[in-house]
Amino acid sequence: MKLKICHLYPDVLNLYGDGGNIRCLTRRLQWRGMEAELVKMPIGSHESLAGVDLVFIGGGQDFEQQVLLEDLHRGRDEELRAAIEDGVTVLAVCGGYQMLGAYYETYDGQRCDFIGALDLYTVGARKRMIGNYMFRCDDALGGMTVVGFENHSGRTRLGSGVQPLGTVLAGFGNNGEDKTEGAHYKNVFGTYSHGPMLPKNPDFADLLLRTALERRCGSAELAPLDDALERMAHAEMCARLERERA
Ligand code: GLN
Repeated sequence: MKLKICHLYPDVLNLYGDGGNIRCLTRRLQWRGMEAELVKMPIGSHESLAGVDLVFIGGGQDFEQQVLLEDLHRGRDEELRAAIEDGVTVLAVCGGYQMLGAYYETYDGQRCDFIGALDLYTVGARKRMIGNYMFRCDDALGGMTVVGFENHSGRTRLGSGVQPLGTVLAGFGNNGEDKTEGAHYKNVFGTYSHGPMLPKNPDFADLLLRTALERRCGSAELAPLDDALERMAHAEMCARLERERA
């Protein structure tokens, strides 16, 4: 069994080791006797998303988000919307997450019109939201706790067409006000979590793999892995954040 994974805009959207998420997904497949085929689609790529099982989009600064706009609106926007409606699994982090919404207006009033695949929009503020943080995923997604690192000016507001990915336990999440973090729509998982997030959140990594495998072959039995180190890293970050909060 092989999953085709696309790293979209690796040239401009790839902050704080975001690309490590792909290495994590690939290894977790290989450890279970499966394979991953990685296709990178930078600005200017004419490669199509047809046949792709999982799309990863990392974070980027305001500048990079503006740089990619021309390419995005040369057809990639329509293709992404269609892939999302078709149930392709997507993990989108921070700037990449904002890109799936309607628009991002920077703190100094520059507007990036994005793709509107998810019912959300983002407006920047001068004060950035920075730090390690954690959130609890919705019960429908398994209710696992996720730890990550956030650094964003954008405040994201969700419309009624999407669900939050989870509830903030420590840190800011979508906007620092309503305790929501990220968004979940069909098989799209949008989050502010950099880090990279997946190595220290193995249950969340497997949620993505299971989602993509189920769509590809109808069912997915993921053999358990020895995640002792990953779980230790996860528990250490949870404990640190609990201590800071106390
Ligand atoms: N430029 C966006 C913001 O500051 C995204 C930042 C990021 O991806 N870390 O909100």
